[in-house]
Amino acid sequence: RFTTRASAQPLTNADDLIDSVETFIFDCDGVIWKGDKLIDGVPQTLDMLRSKGKRLVFVTNNSTKSRKQYGKKFETLGLNVKEEEIFASSFAAAAYLKSINFPKDKKVYVIGEEGILKELELAGYEYLGGPEDGGKKIELKPGYLMEHDESVGAVVVGFDRNFNYYKIQYGTLCIRENPGCLFIATNRDAVTHLTDAQEWAGGGSMVGAIRGSTQREPLVVGKPSTFMMDYLANEFGILKSQICMVGDRLDTDILFGQNGGCKTLLVLSGVTTLPVLQSPDNSIQPDFYTNKISDFLSLKAA
Ligand code: PLP
Ligand code: CA
Repeated sequence: RFTTRASAQPLTNADDLIDSVETFIFDCDGVIWKGDKLIDGVPQTLDMLRSKGKRLVFVTNNSTKSRKQYGKKFETLGLNVKEEEIFASSFAAAAYLKSINFPKDKKVYVIGEEGILKELELAGYEYLGGPEDGGKKIELKPGYLMEHDESVGAVVVGFDRNFNYYKIQYGTLCIRENPGCLFIATNRDAVTHLTDAQEWAGGGSMVGAIRGSTQREPLVVGKPSTFMMDYLANEFGILKSQICMVGDRLDTDILFGQNGGCKTLLVLSGVTTLPVLQSPDNSIQPDFYTNKISDFLSLKAA
């Protein structure tokens, strides 16, 4: 079997890894918390890393909240994390538009939840759509024609629990009738873990619908795309070789770290199990794996 990377090694000496980088990027769900529950030992681990002078950055593909809303969540969980240290895919969508100087006289059509709307507003963009859009607006009678705002220059698609056919058609019209209109996806996670009892359709399902109807490929700003990595490396002036990416998911977090040329650590406190990591069907191998980030406190050289 063709593999380009050696199999992941169990982390045995955390201090060696900690000493080898200056920044840790932590994925959130499955690493810091699970849903609304803090994972064991996280506050002590983050405190230890800060006391060693490490820069800590938090990256999540979950676009439903804004940076500010995540700031509150960290605070509620008793974690001392600043808004500026949080990079959610909602923030990334707005940051991407800014980075390309998306014109302020154009509008953004949003298929997604509040986080994206708040970040666009903060960035000074006018938007339409959002969670409450559509629903009962379509009346399919002879001659019915859906109008759309021709000043929409970008469609941003993220996870949306009120996804509906109106939104698909509106987003599709914006993209198909204006060849210059951007199609931006916050993330393409196939599944998400809204409850621990099963996997639920993730942001990739909404993105897939618009991809299907427009036959266009989205520009993805969340993990594993390099956009957020480049953005934060630039913002903090850090070398990617001096970063360790810590995540629970192979096809988003670990790939994100590898695409950026960072060191990578998989934790088994989230969605990936050891048999999945070690399965011959899996080609994504992090540098190291361990159970949870608080192993940093106990895994010392013998
Ligand atoms: N998208 C949604 C809607 C989610 O609920 C989650 C996790 O809760 C994610 C994405 C993945 O988030 P993260 O990148 O923090 O693991
Ligand atoms: Ca995760």
